[in-house]
Amino acid sequence: MTALKPLIAGNWKMVGLPDDLGRFAEAMRAWGGTSRGDLLICPPATLIGAAVQAFNGLGIAVGGQDCHAKASGAHTGDIAAPMIAAAGGAFVIVGHSERRADHAETDAQVRAKAEAALAAGLTPIICIGEQLQQRQAGETLAVVEASLRASLPEGDLARLVIAYEPVWAIGTGLTANADQIAEVHAHLRQVLTSIHASGAQVKLLYGGSVKPGNAVEILSVADVNGVLVGGASLIAADFQAIAMAC
Ligand code: PGA
Repeated sequence: MTALKPLIAGNWKMVGLPDDLGRFAEAMRAWGGTSRGDLLICPPATLIGAAVQAFNGLGIAVGGQDCHAKASGAHTGDIAAPMIAAAGGAFVIVGHSERRADHAETDAQVRAKAEAALAAGLTPIICIGEQLQQRQAGETLAVVEASLRASLPEGDLARLVIAYEPVWAIGTGLTANADQIAEVHAHLRQVLTSIHASGAQVKLLYGGSVKPGNAVEILSVADVNGVLVGGASLIAADFQAIAMAC
């Protein structure tokens, strides 16, 4: 499984103006380091096109943070997967826990969004994760498995990325420990390969308070093929340190 190239993905959430993007890109251009992984930044939708230009030649892919399940239509304020692709995006996050909470997104809707992303040629990053009370009740593996199964598009899985993000670890400074991450990732891998042989090629990211100080340990856990980084991805030096941790 270690053969999968790690993916170091940043999720800027609803943060970032053109000046912030400019400063980030400048710092990345000045960076002398290298990463064994692929780098990705998912800025707010307003910055996708500008980010594609700003990262030109830097080897940093750009993605969206959400897409609609339909390719176009009367859905004020929403963004369709082909629009992200046309702006130069290559990935899109779907089913982030903040969208599941803020917009009551269900697994069925997340699956439809992932299918729309694939149809538009984007790689969907499907997010799943348990709430604190579910972990405390010993339900973690059942919860993430059910959410995974219900969020997965049919057929070949090779073009998918899955992000395991325990909801209690997002933006809280709390991280799942290496044993907790290993247990969930091993389970997800087993479920994915039982669904389709291509499940072995799905990159499994961990997300939730990933920082320079914990990235090496997290990225060395079996079946962790990258990280989805929120807060720390806004700071170029932190994103660089995390990128160098694999
Ligand atoms: P965080 O966010 O790194 O700020 O905890 C992770 C995420 O929501 O993807």
